[in-house]
Amino acid sequence: MTRIFSGVKPTGHLTLGNYLGALRRWAEEDQYRAESLFCVVDLHALTVEHDPARVRRLSRQAASLMLAAGLDPQVCTVFVQSHVDEHARLSYLLECVASDGEMRRMIQYKEKSARAQASGQGVRLSLLTYPVLMAADILAYGADEVPVGEDQTQHVELTRDLAERFNQRYGGAFVIPRATQPAVAARVMDLQDPASKMGKSHEATAGIVYLLDEPDVVAKKVMRAVTDSEPGVTYDREARPGLANLLEILASCTGKEPAALAAAYDAGGLGFGALKRETADAVVELLRPLRARHAELSADPGYMDGVLREGAARARAIARPTVDAAYRAMGLLPPA
Ligand code: ATP
Ligand code: MG
Repeated sequence: MTRIFSGVKPTGHLTLGNYLGALRRWAEEDQYRAESLFCVVDLHALTVEHDPARVRRLSRQAASLMLAAGLDPQVCTVFVQSHVDEHARLSYLLECVASDGEMRRMIQYKEKSARAQASGQGVRLSLLTYPVLMAADILAYGADEVPVGEDQTQHVELTRDLAERFNQRYGGAFVIPRATQPAVAARVMDLQDPASKMGKSHEATAGIVYLLDEPDVVAKKVMRAVTDSEPGVTYDREARPGLANLLEILASCTGKEPAALAAAYDAGGLGFGALKRETADAVVELLRPLRARHAELSADPGYMDGVLREGAARARAIARPTVDAAYRAMGLLPPA
């Protein structure tokens, strides 16, 4: 049976980008068609300046939002990365097959290290090695598919390279995974800065729709989205990124095609205002049940604890033999 692994970092409040690019598909499709594991990847949250209490809080919130989005712990496995030691164990082995240059070429490392430096913070070594830990997350479970947003495809490619290299050099048996992406909204852009990806850890929040924003706040952020002053409505990600972003968000919410939506708006002579209003309404409606379910789950922390405890036990049982085999393959002496 196909196995799926994916995760979300507790580095901030989850955004519409996280939902449309990843969570929604996990909940609506992935968990029902494959043996799936979904993880709050908390170790990854320590790669940038962090406040321990906040990471703890955000980890619970992320897990709760994953269930609120529709992940069913009877159907899939939901757990926290740091509860399963195998991630860190395997990461070290993979550091011994990865090269320094390979890590420095990662786009996300370049972006995030530049941001850390600009804000006067040092660059943590773990930010450089982060993609290796991510490879370990995936390979420990023998995942065939990794449903992610567009920004993570480079890291999944690296995971494939490391797995192939390990298999070749040490006769390992890692499954070679592949990234899957949603047809639209694989890269939701910041509503105020359509040149950059909407990201939950970004400091300027006006262009970011958080899943737990109040409906009027969501509507206001969408209505104030930056577009352009060209006439007519066309779908062109390069030339008209702000407009294309709104069209993709609306398409993702309604199951329509962005180009078809653009053509309909253009033909109707309707301006950006109407598009923004419809998009705002669609996003508010899409998030309404998720917010309600999150509120219910937050009222019952004991239930969430149980889900995460069972999830970690299931995950550990899958990962342990794979990682033990990798230890042996690399030449580490088994304990007597
Ligand atoms: P950070 O700013 O800390 O990197 P993030 O918003 O990028 O946070 P991640 O935890 O890195 O979130 O990613 C979780 C999942 O959400 C990944 O599959 C990622 O590809 C996806 N994702 C993140 N941002 C977007 C976006 N703007 N559009 C589509 N998918 C996204
Ligand atoms: Mg990210």
